[in-house]
Amino acid sequence: MISNITKEKKEFYINLLAEIVSKKSVLKDEYLVADVIKDFLNSINVSYDVHFLDEQRPNVIAKIGSGKKKLLLVCHMDVVEGSGVWEFDPFVLSEQNGKLIGRGVADNKGPLVSLLILIDSLKSENFDGELQILFASDEEKSGPNGLKYLLREDLIHADFAIVADTPGEFNKIMVAERGSLNVGVIAKGKQVHSAYTHLDGDNPIDKMASFIVKLSSYELNHDPHKYLTPPSLSFVKINGGFANNVVPSVCEATINIRYVVNQSVDEILSELKDIAGDNFEFRVKSYTVPSEVNEDHESISLLRSVAQKHGFNPILTGLDSGTDCKKLVHAGIPAVGYCFPKEGVAHQVNEWIWEEDLFIYADLMKDFVIEFFK
Ligand SMILES: [Zn+2]
Repeated sequence: MISNITKEKKEFYINLLAEIVSKKSVLKDEYLVADVIKDFLNSINVSYDVHFLDEQRPNVIAKIGSGKKKLLLVCHMDVVEGSGVWEFDPFVLSEQNGKLIGRGVADNKGPLVSLLILIDSLKSENFDGELQILFASDEEKSGPNGLKYLLREDLIHADFAIVADTPGEFNKIMVAERGSLNVGVIAKGKQVHSAYTHLDGDNPIDKMASFIVKLSSYELNHDPHKYLTPPSLSFVKINGGFANNVVPSVCEATINIRYVVNQSVDEILSELKDIAGDNFEFRVKSYTVPSEVNEDHESISLLRSVAQKHGFNPILTGLDSGTDCKKLVHAGIPAVGYCFPKEGVAHQVNEWIWEEDLFIYADLMKDFVIEFFK
């Protein structure tokens, strides 16, 4: 059992996490983390490939074993900013009452180190198949350098994948994810002197305000999904006007919509247009499509039974936000999210994990990998 490893070895891995946390891979520069990973893999003689679109933002894929059956485990090397008022330096790993604190320990550098512990424990196993562990770039912004690039270049093949980037304290297997749609809205009016609106008033800020009020209690049409939270809609940016004595001609806003399987971008857009009425323009800025995997997949049952042996009883559920799972599912690779951080700590100040979870996760995943290839 990995969780029974020596105190010295545990300290070694925690120092490895500290080193990785200190590498400021804030939405770029993942090569800083990749270098630490490559050194570690070299030191334990595990082979890997490196693929990149931009040298500073590489993807590392460690490989153990060979054979037809392929299992992919995924984590990412980038983190969000360390902004906000922290009790600790976000880029110096701190320990307090069994907790490890630092930017990225939950999302996703702690799970990343767990996967390195796993690799270390599996390096001399002889299983019939290929285990791939992907350390990806560019996950947080779902940009072009990470999994998107690897899938487009046909560099990823697997029968099943687990993305170690979801919360749930070992008790949630994420089998579906909501999609995310960003819509730009423009309310159009007429530019006039603000002293003469009684003569010629057509204020787009007022129009946007009433649109916001209408949407605040509106539920988008959808079929309820077994695992996903109903769609949500949030105004995330608003901008209008430029002077104290001028009513502007336009007011612009951005709405972020989290939507479920069976809703389409076109349908959502036409619903919004109906509510807004005349003198509004809508533009889709970007979107990701919701995803779900077949809940009866045999590897999901296997993951549940392995987790049960380790004292957990994970439920199948959906993720309100999104991970790399989506991209894999849309590329035809069944992928679920399963990991240990607590809900609501990612991207927060004083981001933390339980230290022992690093070892429990590696232990559990080791059993899963061995059973998967049996
Ligand atoms: Zn993440």
